Amino acid sequence: MEKEKITFNIEKNKNFSEWYTEIIKKAELADIRYNVKGFIVFQPWSVLAMEKMFHFMESTLQKKGHMPYYFPTVIPEKNFKKESHHVKGFTPEVFWLEAVKGEDKLALRPTSETAFYQMFALWINSYKDLPFKTYQRANVFRYETKATRPFLRSREFHWIEAHCAHATEKDAMNQVHEDMETTKEVLHDIYGLPFIFFQRPEWDKFPGAKYTYAADVLNPDGRVVQQPSTHLLEQEFAKAFDVKFKDKDEKEKYVYITCYGPAISRIFASIIAVHGDDKGLKFPWKIAPIQVIIVPFSLDKDVLKKVDELKFLLIKNNISVQTDISDKRPGEKFYYWEMKGVPLRIEVGKKEIQSKELTIYRRDIDKKEKIKEKDILKYIEKTSNEIDKNLIKQADKLFDNNIINVGSKVEIKKVIESGKIARCDFCSISKTGEHCAEIIEKEIGAQVRGKNLKKESPKGKCIICNKKAEEVVYIARAY
Ligand SMILES: [Zn+2]
Repeated sequence: MEKEKITFNIEKNKNFSEWYTEIIKKAELADIRYNVKGFIVFQPWSVLAMEKMFHFMESTLQKKGHMPYYFPTVIPEKNFKKESHHVKGFTPEVFWLEAVKGEDKLALRPTSETAFYQMFALWINSYKDLPFKTYQRANVFRYETKATRPFLRSREFHWIEAHCAHATEKDAMNQVHEDMETTKEVLHDIYGLPFIFFQRPEWDKFPGAKYTYAADVLNPDGRVVQQPSTHLLEQEFAKAFDVKFKDKDEKEKYVYITCYGPAISRIFASIIAVHGDDKGLKFPWKIAPIQVIIVPFSLDKDVLKKVDELKFLLIKNNISVQTDISDKRPGEKFYYWEMKGVPLRIEVGKKEIQSKELTIYRRDIDKKEKIKEKDILKYIEKTSNEIDKNLIKQADKLFDNNIINVGSKVEIKKVIESGKIARCDFCSISKTGEHCAEIIEKEIGAQVRGKNLKKESPKGKCIICNKKAEEVVYIARAY
């Protein structure tokens, strides 16, 4: 009985929805009791992790030449009206501020294209200014009408938006590829999240974009979550906001614009979902809110002294660490920090002090080992790498085993219902294929997510209309 009270034990793969709701509460990631629908309070355990996530994404962008900005949260209505697809796509989701007499009607930004590009028009004059690469870390607001879920879909989310202007379409397309590479370097190699980048079908593009490319991550419940997307906006926005430059040939030309949007708070949802297990959260080392928890077996003076000594040693070596010197029993503390997903736990008692050995628990493999105290830093350096590699490997394996080739509508249904992604030949992701996608949506409740950017050639006919297939597409249920 006692044990049940303190352990977190919900079978993640059997009841993902309950698991997700409970772990957010138990691990104190967010408090959903804030009294505005669709808005939540982010608590320290999620903020600490997200701060690290922001750091890795921003430093990667900066390395590739993006410069940071902070734009105003408000955007005048007239800016939205300048690009017709954009205004049509976003207007239903905009929070409007009550108009002040004699001033422009203002929106809380749902995304900032229409804020950035009017400034681009002022800042960009010559081909020498290009490429012009920016980003900002911001919170954005969208009036979601679908049911909201903490981190996954809220009315306010925390993200990074990168906006770039280029001289040619080719340069713009290279930027799109660079954004996809950034996604791999950060989402996969640091956060440990596998994904596929899809070119979205014509009917599922970002409002105002020529092409949209988006990364889908697979949730344990078989639904995909759209994570960063990058858009080739072409010259539509440049024309709407008059963003021109004088080219080498002295002619005035419109720039080509791209934008990229990794939503850190939404990516955090995938980190919870992909890495967690029945005991609770599991964090990759680099983005763990704290990396090491030190738990003493007793509150004896000598033991506490050793705990402090170890803590300062780790702090000095840039390892984020906390100690648990509460009066809870050691076992209770162990379960608590395992549930919170701390990658390493150091256990210290009189026995450890005497033998000059420490007991270390690894959350990723759920195992304890003994090491010599003097080797602690070397051990952490080596093990932290192993932990990240291990989590990535596990996540990759799960993802790869969940993509199934199908040859008929019945098979799509079977695959989707078993919580997997179906891959099949399909007529087209241009406008002509929309009808076939609607049939899949209506009869199976799943969406054509698009085509993989790794060239895959169809061999046969569209799985729905039987016309010659132009693409291989992926079909999944989505959040
Ligand atoms: Zn078709």
